[in-house]
Amino acid sequence: MGNRRFSGKVCRSIPVLLACVIIVCLLLDHYGKGKSASRSVFAMDTYMELMAYGTDSEEALDRAVVEIQRIDGLLSTGIAESEVSRLNAEKEGALSEDLRYLLERSMEINEMSGGAFDITIYPVMKAWGFAGGEFRVPGDEELSKLLAYVDMSSLKYSQESGRLEMPRQAELDFGGIGKGYTAQRIAEVFAEYDIGGAMLNLGGNVQIYGSKPDGSEWKIAVKSPDGALPYLGILSFEGLSGGAGGSRAVVTSGGYERYFEKDGEIYHHIIDPRTGKPSDSGLVSVTVACGDGTLADGLSTAIFVMGYDKAVELWRGHKGEFELILFDDQGKLYVTEGLEGSFVSEIEYEIIY
Ligand code: AMP
Ligand code: MG
Repeated sequence: MGNRRFSGKVCRSIPVLLACVIIVCLLLDHYGKGKSASRSVFAMDTYMELMAYGTDSEEALDRAVVEIQRIDGLLSTGIAESEVSRLNAEKEGALSEDLRYLLERSMEINEMSGGAFDITIYPVMKAWGFAGGEFRVPGDEELSKLLAYVDMSSLKYSQESGRLEMPRQAELDFGGIGKGYTAQRIAEVFAEYDIGGAMLNLGGNVQIYGSKPDGSEWKIAVKSPDGALPYLGILSFEGLSGGAGGSRAVVTSGGYERYFEKDGEIYHHIIDPRTGKPSDSGLVSVTVACGDGTLADGLSTAIFVMGYDKAVELWRGHKGEFELILFDDQGKLYVTEGLEGSFVSEIEYEIIY
């Protein structure tokens, strides 16, 4: 009798217990999905901010930091044992998977940009002191000698074997594309974790992934080059569907990122490969929005050098592949058609169709 009473209680308690377990699981799941984590890192000569939401946010960001350090260790010209430093010293070698990908993408962007983007720019970067040396203004004769080595078509690369041979004086610099590649790689790494959304800012290379836990839009401030305004405007994007395909890059290039002043003149770090001097195309800030972080980074540097007319021509030939926000030295702001409705600015802007 006592046993029956006891088992009756248990029977009545089971549905209650199950309901409690389900509620606790739902609460934990809800908490887990919204769980946010962040990291700040100094790498690739810049401050990087990473933020992620989701059950695995801590682990995913730890992996992201490892990935940043790994790629920095391959590309840094400041680290003597990096793959790029070794290539620059030895002038030949079998490339790692990362370098193969980056070299092939660099060749593609070199071609798209009519040579404005050229990773063999390194000897000229060094002459100006942008490669960790003393800032100085090299003379025309010195620059024209160095420009003889700036030419990506002089690189002998086999896509099949992954071997690269370069002329004796050539040296490579992936500074114009490496951060965007890193952001894209991290988005690919995130796909292995339970991450609902993430936002990375690798020194002006912003990459958004997935969606925010509250379902609101991602907002990205586009930096202003002159300090008169805190930012040029705000870009808003809806949440993206999960996986590495659900990520988007917004990358800005501007001379204000790195420069020095000499005798009242400003000299910045984006070099026109035709002159060996800081690019003076009339564009002072170029933002590229695109699903492909590597392309966005390479193109932002390339278009800064190309100037407005060539930028528009390039965009029209690749409609739907990337979008642009261009700001020129006359204070005029231009936005390509695909960002109409996503970009808000205090400055009136013209839409490019
Ligand atoms: P970003 O900040 O992405 O626009 O890249 C600027 C960096 O790209 C510089 O610090 C150099 O390392 C490198 N760079 C400068 N000029 C060029 C160029 N014309 N083509 C490719 N890379 C460049
Ligand atoms: Mg770039």
